[in-house]
Amino acid sequence: MNSVDKIFAPALDLDNRLADAVTWEHGGRLWPSSEQQTLTCCRVVDETHDIKSFEFRTADGLPVRFEPGQFMTVSATVNGQRVERCYTISSPPTRPFLVSITVKRVPGGTMSNWLHDNMKAGCELRAYGPSGTFTPTAAPATKSLYLSAGSGVTPLMSMTRASIDLGLNRDVIFIHSARTPADIVFREELARLAKLSPRLRVFFVCEGVGDESDWQGPVGRLSLQLLSQWAPDYLEREVFTCGPAGYMSAVRGLLAEGGHDPARYHQESFDITADVAPAPVAEKAETASGTFTVKLSRSSRTFTMSASDTVLSAAKKAGVAVASSCSQGVCGTCKTKLLEGSVDMKHNGGIREREVQKGFRLLCCSRPTSDLVLEL
Ligand SMILES: Cc1cc2nc3c(=O)[nH]c(=O)nc-3n(C[C@H](O)[C@H](O)[C@H](O)COP(=O)(O)OP(=O)(O)OC[C@H]3O[C@@H](n4cnc5c(N)ncnc54)[C@H](O)[C@@H]3O)c2cc1C
Repeated sequence: MNSVDKIFAPALDLDNRLADAVTWEHGGRLWPSSEQQTLTCCRVVDETHDIKSFEFRTADGLPVRFEPGQFMTVSATVNGQRVERCYTISSPPTRPFLVSITVKRVPGGTMSNWLHDNMKAGCELRAYGPSGTFTPTAAPATKSLYLSAGSGVTPLMSMTRASIDLGLNRDVIFIHSARTPADIVFREELARLAKLSPRLRVFFVCEGVGDESDWQGPVGRLSLQLLSQWAPDYLEREVFTCGPAGYMSAVRGLLAEGGHDPARYHQESFDITADVAPAPVAEKAETASGTFTVKLSRSSRTFTMSASDTVLSAAKKAGVAVASSCSQGVCGTCKTKLLEGSVDMKHNGGIREREVQKGFRLLCCSRPTSDLVLEL
């Protein structure tokens, strides 16, 4: 521990506890991830040529409780089809009357283009409550290293904004990678926040200079040399990474090469098809046979399903409308209370242990091992 850390360590510990207590656990309306509500768009901000932020207030005007780094699942009818997608809340929980999402336009993408083309101030959007475990409270640390690329900046931005709002002066090194300087999301705000908080250090690396021929920063990709230069103590830092699958795989390679402890590495994948284990199939399920009955307590409906199918897929085949998004056990949108029976669930981080203890399961990655009653 260097002398600066010795001075700040007790304060930071208090900061962590304060932040956990004041910001995330108290205040604000509990908005479960299984519950939809209507949000009203207050503002649209052009962040870069293909990224916009959409700021929303709730219909009841009550503040929303969430943790920095969490996402919400938005739902819209696009070309006659109901579409659901997850977006990280880029605003901090310290401004709980507002939830904003920052969306990159994906070529050919359904929801991102619909939001960019249709969502304006005054428009409404349905969304499920906050969810996700990519939060600093999941891995409290006195020294962090935030690594992001492209729209992957959003969870780290919420964490940074929250920490600055509370005056925590946390020791954070934030390195963001972009294609060109014009593609750096939140460029001015991050630079301003770094001036406000001496222990927040922000660095940008761009693959090319684009139209900004006087770009002073490094050109290329994040390398071990750059990392060691900007964060010489990176081995001591809790690392939070978010970006495209290829970027995160490169970052993991760099950190492994440098000897960083993988237990102190945390990542959020936006790309549910590329960087997440395929929808886990229970070993038993491959040979599982038989048919089970599923009863839905709210709608009083009943259907039968094969033991080898996921509950979500069987429900959809039976014509039951279940909110879902990733189908990979990541996003948590299909979280449902299991009232009776048992399932074999193999998730990818989309549900917390305490939710499992309370009887919730993710239907997209759960296969029945008995007849079931679901709170649906
Ligand atoms: C936890 C989480 C948080 C996220 N947070 C953010 C965030 O903060 N900001 C953000 O911008 N994104 C975020 N995402 C990603 C977001 O959820 C969407 O995946 C993204 O916006 C693309 O959705 P889309 O509907 O526009 O694209 P989709 O319609 O899902 O298409 C995705 C890709 O598939 C291609 N495609 C679509 N249909 C076809 C077809 N028939 N044949 C071949 N290819 C096809 C498209 O061209 C496109 O390249 C997050 C994802 C997760 C899981």
